[in-house]
This record gives sequence, C-alpha cells and structure tokens, in this order.
Amino acid sequence: MKIAFHTLGCKVNQYETDALKENFKSKGHEIAQDESFADVYVINTCTVTSLADRKSRQYIRRAKKLNPQSIIAVTGCYAQVSPEEAASIDGVDFVIGNDDKMNIPEQLEKFLVGMSITDTKKSKDVGMSSNSDSRTRAFIKVQDGCDRFCSYCIIPYARGKLQSRPIEHIISETKNLIDKGFKEIVLTGINAALYGADMDSELQMSDRTGVDMDSELRISDVNDANAFGKNSGKEVLGIESVIKELNALDGDFRIRLGSLEPTVIDANYIKKLLKYEKLCHHMHLSLQSGSDNVLKSMNRKYNIDEYMQIIKVLEQFDPEYGISTDIIVGFPGETNDDFVESLKITENVDFCKVHVFKYSNRKGTAASKMSGQIDGTEKSRRSAKLITTGDASAIRFFKKNLTKEKKVLIEEFVKKLDCYTGYTDNYIKVYIDKKYFNDNCTNSDLNLDSGNGSNKNRQVRSEISKNYINEFVNVRLTGIFEDGMLAEPV
Ligand code: SF4
Repeated sequence: MKIAFHTLGCKVNQYETDALKENFKSKGHEIAQDESFADVYVINTCTVTSLADRKSRQYIRRAKKLNPQSIIAVTGCYAQVSPEEAASIDGVDFVIGNDDKMNIPEQLEKFLVGMSITDTKKSKDVGMSSNSDSRTRAFIKVQDGCDRFCSYCIIPYARGKLQSRPIEHIISETKNLIDKGFKEIVLTGINAALYGADMDSELQMSDRTGVDMDSELRISDVNDANAFGKNSGKEVLGIESVIKELNALDGDFRIRLGSLEPTVIDANYIKKLLKYEKLCHHMHLSLQSGSDNVLKSMNRKYNIDEYMQIIKVLEQFDPEYGISTDIIVGFPGETNDDFVESLKITENVDFCKVHVFKYSNRKGTAASKMSGQIDGTEKSRRSAKLITTGDASAIRFFKKNLTKEKKVLIEEFVKKLDCYTGYTDNYIKVYIDKKYFNDNCTNSDLNLDSGNGSNKNRQVRSEISKNYINEFVNVRLTGIFEDGMLAEPV
C-alpha cells in the first residue's frame, strides 16, 4: 500500500513519523513522496494550542478529499487528548494514542481484515537508521513525557510519564547516522533535560493525574551525588550523560540540543555541559514570561534572576553564544506591567530568535480555570509589540557576530537566491553566494527550488552541487540578510 504522512508539532513528533516510515517500509509498504494520493493517510497531530487542534482537523479532512477511498489513521497528541473528537470527524477510520503510535502498521493490518483495533502492548523503543527527508541533520529522540505541569501546558496529559530511552540505543543510533554521513545530531525530547529522571524508581515523578509530587525537585538538587540512577548502578547525569557519550564518538559531526527547560536545569548544570567540544554553542531556553509574578502562576520553577544567571554563564563562556527562546503573551492575569517585563528582557538579552505565542486556553490545564483571561485583541497587540522587540534582539545578536568566523553546515542550494544556505553552530542561518564556490553550473542547469520538488530535481542537484551540501565550511559573517547573515568562505 502507498502510505502518506502529515506531521504537525514538535521535533519529537517529526522523529516518530520518520520512525513510523521506517516501520512501514520494513513491512513492504511504499512511502508516498507527497500527500497528493495515497491508500492510507497517517496524520500525526499536535494539541499544544487550539490552532494546532484546528490544523489537525483540517489535515484530516483534506486527506479524505485527496482520496475518498483512503484509510485515515489519526495519531499524536490531539488523538491522545481528544480521541472521541478525532474519531467523530468524517472519514476517520481509527485513532491511535501516543503510547501505541509505533504499532500503527500492525493496527492497519488488523483493520484491513476487519479486526477491531485494540490497545496493543507498549510500543518498543525503535531506533532509526536514517531520517528520510534531511541528508545533513538528524533528530534523535532521547526521552518522552514531562512531569512539570506548567499551568498552561497540555503536554504532560498528552505525553504522560517520563520515559528515557536506554543510552545504548541512543549511542548505536547515533553511530549509525554518523556512518550514513549525517554531520549534525539534534537531541530532542519532550523535556530532554529530564533525561534519566525515570531511571531511578525512587525519583519516579507523578503520572497524568496532575498530582506533581516531586516537581520541586530540580536537577541541581540531585546531581551532586549523581543521585539519578544511583540504584541502577549507572552514572546518569541527566542529559549530560547522553552528550558525554556522543561527544566521545569518532567522526566529523556536531551535537545540537533541541531545547532545555529552565524549569529543570540551572546555571550550575549548564556549566557542566560547556566542556563538550562537539556541542553547538546554541541553546533553546524557553523563558515564557519576563515577569516573576506570571512565572509563578505558570508554575515555572525559576525566576528571572535564575534565568539571567544561565544567560550570563553562556555569554561569559562565549559572547556569541546563540540563545533562542519562547515567550507567551496574554497569560491569564498578565498585567500590562507584567508584559512590559517581557519586553524589557528582550531589550536586555541578544536572543538569536524569540518565538512569541499568544496564550491558548487548553481544556484540563490549571490555567484554563484561572480568572483574568485576556481578550484576543489585547493578546494580538502584545504579540505584535513583542515580535518587534524580539526581532530587534536578533539584529543586535547578528551585529555582534559581524566579521566573526564561524563553521557552517551547508544544507541546501537556493536557486532563486543563487546561493547555498546552512547554519552556524551558534544557530545563525547563513547565505553564501554561489560565486565563492568553483561550481560552474548555471541557473538553467540547476532549475531548482530549494529543498522540495521531484526526484529528478533532487538527482540533478546532487550530481551538480554535491561538493558542498552536507559539508562544513569555515566562513566570515559579512552582513545581515533576510532572517540571517551573509557569509563568505575563509
Ligand atoms: S516543561 Fe512545562 S511547558 Fe515544557 S512540556 Fe513540560 S509542562 Fe509543558
């Protein structure tokens, strides 16, 4: 059968879709290159905001229109949190939660022979041999679940208990991907900073009932004695244990962290990570608000001082360290003064990127029951203002990097700009004019759009510009351009 996928949401969802593709391929199915026509559509949904729910439903309906005879399987966080609602959408054949996601091929076989879809055993930990779309950067999921219960967040209800993947699996999967030529390994998880916390039953955190027993516990409280995993006899240092192992592997590759939650790690812990030379000088540290009052009602276990201590450690280590963040505007009870605190922090910190989100009410979360809900117009006003200060923050960061030399991983050729693009280790997107590469092909030869397009394009591109895609190139940053910087090889 021809199977098409549509994935919404985070890198973990993307990783799981790639693992599912491998699973289906191993059972002899064909993976559709695009969503134009397929026998089966697997929609891997997200529910982090009401917009994500709406988009999930839109893609489910769209798939049925693309092929009315197709089988529609819905999985992911929307399916996990609202299974009945998902199942009630016209054309949906079966709904599978996150825990069972990896067993969709088996469930499909059952469905095809008219058997009922039943909860099967917990999906086993499936490693992956290669990421299907990218050739340069590979995501590796290190853990699942979160127990922090930030008051606005639905994820702990959608993803459940902490589950860290055995470190041996992560190491062998990384070796496999390096052997396949991947040059960047992105460590991702629902809350990667909590890697290993479930490996010690004593420290087992709460389940989905929302009773967070130990969420006061922060990694700095337990790490001194390598408490994580002390009963397992394994030295588990949280996410550091993974970075330590991968950093020791041979190969010309770099490690990038998806994101680290300041609700778990602190400045002391960050210091420990900086010694690993393969680790990119970039961290995504979700701040969520610049106001201590709002952070408190968000149940985020840090204050602005503690967050700024982390920033200070990173900037002292490398003044061009790339720090990206997320900030929510319009959280229930957020006063204009609170909002001004969020503006101030983006004026004081040179973030490489600030992602701004309007608060989205998620049924079942603590915040959804709070008073002081903010109306949509005011949320949009605050969002627009913060996006502007966030962009100014990024420009300051780019200016700080002007004339600096950086190592870039070339990811693709962009025809309409006639240049190669890729990212520095401190997460600046760079544009390098083709003239710097003795690549004597012409536009018409290339005739390519960046990244997507048919196999023929891919084949032509790889033959002509294979010298540079997936290559590390040392460059000097020469100017600010589009959402990144111009650069020339040195
Ligand atoms: S740390 Fe908070 S925001 Fe992040 S996934 Fe967990 S509950 Fe959600």
